[in-house]
Amino acid sequence: MNVLLITGASRGIGAATARLAASRGYAVAVKYRANRQAADRVVVDIEQDGGTAVALGADVTREEEIVRLFEAVERELGPVTALVNNAGIVDQQMRVEEMTLERLERMFATNVFGAILCAREAVRRMSTRHGGRGGAIVNVSSAAARLGSPGEYVDYAASKGAIDTFTIGLAKEVAAEGIRVNGVRPGIIDTESHAAGGEPGRIERIAPTLPLQRAGTVDEVAAAILWLLSDEASYITGTLLDIAGGR
Ligand code: NAP
Repeated sequence: MNVLLITGASRGIGAATARLAASRGYAVAVKYRANRQAADRVVVDIEQDGGTAVALGADVTREEEIVRLFEAVERELGPVTALVNNAGIVDQQMRVEEMTLERLERMFATNVFGAILCAREAVRRMSTRHGGRGGAIVNVSSAAARLGSPGEYVDYAASKGAIDTFTIGLAKEVAAEGIRVNGVRPGIIDTESHAAGGEPGRIERIAPTLPLQRAGTVDEVAAAILWLLSDEASYITGTLLDIAGGR
């Protein structure tokens, strides 16, 4: 059975990806940080639809928790064959000259180091070099990586730029070992994360200015992620797919 670990799957894009993946036959590890109740709800929904899922807690800024997470997935569902590096944060909108080191460390620890360490654990299990059977990784980046997010969160955009470069490099490094690595770059997607940036009305402000004139849905992002993980995308690696309504 294909075993898929999704970080940040308690809500938003991660939760939608977990539900869709389970409906397509993956056994899904729903990883949350703080919100166990929300992760449990995702698992119950999946089980009620006849799927297999387990909720597992870990903070991706803590290496030892990531290592334990992969061991727990293996124990509960089997070795990971697919990983979606989705956990990510923004912070209050502000200009660069106001940013503290503490903010930058939190942003990069979550969005960059967490994703790289999860990929490390996945490669150790998937790579034919280590006796694995191959696999697929999708990193959730952002259109911010190419737009830069001036006046909002340039640090966030820079962290996603790092994820894009990491995606390209890792894809080439492990291509001959049975692992494909791709990234998605969502634009404005309707989730709670915009409120975390201090502007709950951000979607209403920006959506009318987009070529497709609306925000995207979590299901639209999940569909693209699942396609990149699937054999239908078997000749695609090192690719960054924009899901941004033409932005
Ligand atoms: P969201 O609704 O804010 O959910 C974020 C998820 O990440 C939650 O499940 C949260 O877990 C988890 N998380 C945060 N910090 C974590 C940590 N240190 N360790 C482990 N898990 C952690 O986010 P979203 O809008 O669905 O975004 C998901 C991804 O898409 C992010 O990487 C984001 O940058 C990217 N993205 C989103 C948009 C958008 O418009 N929404 C656009 C472009 C890119 P808890 O709930 O347990 O805290």
